[in-house]
Amino acid sequence: MSFHASVLTLYPEMFPGPLGLSLAGRGLAEEAWSLETVQIRDFALDRHRSVDDTPAGGGAGMVMRADVLARAIDHASPQGDSRPRLLMSPRGQPLTQARVRELAAGPGAVILCGRFEGVDQRLIDTRGLEEVSVGDFILSGGEPAAIVLLDAVVRLLPGVMGNAQSGDEESFENSLLEHPHYTRPQEFEGVPIPDVLNSGHHAKIAAWRREQAERLTKERRPDLIAARPQSVQK
Ligand code: SAH
Repeated sequence: MSFHASVLTLYPEMFPGPLGLSLAGRGLAEEAWSLETVQIRDFALDRHRSVDDTPAGGGAGMVMRADVLARAIDHASPQGDSRPRLLMSPRGQPLTQARVRELAAGPGAVILCGRFEGVDQRLIDTRGLEEVSVGDFILSGGEPAAIVLLDAVVRLLPGVMGNAQSGDEESFENSLLEHPHYTRPQEFEGVPIPDVLNSGHHAKIAAWRREQAERLTKERRPDLIAARPQSVQK
């Protein structure tokens, strides 16, 4: 069984969107993964097909109704479905490459995309939703966040990324940002490629890349070094 994503959204037209192109799109066409969208509005309970209502306690905006969302989730992910149920949410755990790897190793994901002010808390609690954030900023809806998550997961699936090895040395895989890259021409606007990269000396090149990765990570993301597992710390 390959990775199966079910996305619950008010805007199914946004999918596959960018996931229909390039690596992810080829993987979709070749059935390395599959994608189903579920229109939340189809599970509304009234003739106006409303999915949201005013917040209890007052205040601005609208909140997505627990009853409508529960019907949509129970349809997309009936009891016995072992896939994790995710809610895209700025309040969630920030998405990491480690979580992306776990998801890619599993059977798929059921992904709820919020809109308006968010969703009724009782839905999150009763359906055991794992809240996942793509960063400390506010999007207008969960759809772009779901696309980000799926893009990161799908490229790790067997048969999707051309060069299987090219996943291993990337930023975050060793709690390090990646070293800088260069390619032809040898000289660009007077700036040459660093000598060591032309040396053909593999050990020196590896050492240089490691140094550069350490330097960049210290400068830009000291938090990654602090959070490094002890086993990797020198
Ligand atoms: N009122 C909420 C923001 C709602 S934004 C708050 O202040 O926390 C509307 C929807 O967009 C959310 O329900 C969520 O599904 C999605 N969203 C917005 N920012 C996001 C982020 N950084 N990561 C993941 N999903 C996000």
